[in-house]
Amino acid sequence: MQNYKTISEDLNEMKSIFEGDIYTDRHTRVLYATDASAYREVPLAVTRPKSEEDIRLLVLFAKKHNTSLIPRTAGTSLAGQVVGRGIVVDVSKHLTKILEFNEKERWVRVQPGVVRDELNKFLEPAGLFFSPETSTSDRCMIGGMVGNNACGAHSLIYGSTRDHIISVRAILSDGIYVEFGSLLKKQFDKKCKLNSLEGDIYRNIHSILSDQENQEEIRRQFPDKSIKRRNTGYAIDVFKAVYV
Ligand SMILES: Cc1cc2nc3c(=O)[nH]c(=O)nc-3n(C[C@H](O)[C@H](O)[C@H](O)COP(=O)(O)OP(=O)(O)OC[C@H]3O[C@@H](n4cnc5c(N)ncnc54)[C@H](O)[C@@H]3O)c2cc1C
Repeated sequence: MQNYKTISEDLNEMKSIFEGDIYTDRHTRVLYATDASAYREVPLAVTRPKSEEDIRLLVLFAKKHNTSLIPRTAGTSLAGQVVGRGIVVDVSKHLTKILEFNEKERWVRVQPGVVRDELNKFLEPAGLFFSPETSTSDRCMIGGMVGNNACGAHSLIYGSTRDHIISVRAILSDGIYVEFGSLLKKQFDKKCKLNSLEGDIYRNIHSILSDQENQEEIRRQFPDKSIKRRNTGYAIDVFKAVYV
């Protein structure tokens, strides 16, 4: 990793093309050194993007400077998820819009900084609600709920966040926009043929999961399926159900 001074100077140079905010001062960095956990680490910088393009610029910047991004919404994580040495990307300030609502099909498209209870206030007149009842629901945001696969008191009935996600729009480290969601086998095979980082991801998943030895090991080690609320490791069982 390059030193702090170089990264900080380069980030400040980016301000002319960055719509949101970039902070490299000590005061702001210290404010973002903690979340709801016991951990503390002063980040290199703090940013508050205003657009997807801002995030794309940060992704490319982090790749070039061999540093990490720390996406952050409300910062209520308990295990240090939003604490680190990289660049904090706080989407809670500007990326807070409910973009689209389809009442008939019962789905909503949101930016990551939408607070869970505010989303439910918006959905209430239609008799709908986003069900994971995370205790911090009056401040936790959809980006963080997806990141943590958050759930709550009635998780055995309502499931966790991933059970209610249709798709996620993301930016890969090569700066390309991708959409992750359920795929039919035919669509999956098509993704595997892509000559790009996105294609590498699908090929990699296919290669790991089609390996006989891996399959046996996964079956041997996989947690008891009757335990519904488990949040560690990869949800390969869910993935498989979609893929087959
Ligand atoms: C008192 C208390 C009670 C809690 N109770 C519960 C509970 O009942 N159930 C539960 O599940 N959790 C609980 N939590 C933990 C936490 O509140 C939840 O997991 C919550 O959903 C996190 O949301 P957040 O907006 O604070 O996310 P953050 O803490 O800001 O981020 C969470 C994760 O998501 C990632 N992330 C955020 N935005 C993005 C993005 N745009 N792109 C990619 N990654 C992103 C972050 O990098 C991080 O890894 C509790 C915490 C506290 C302090």
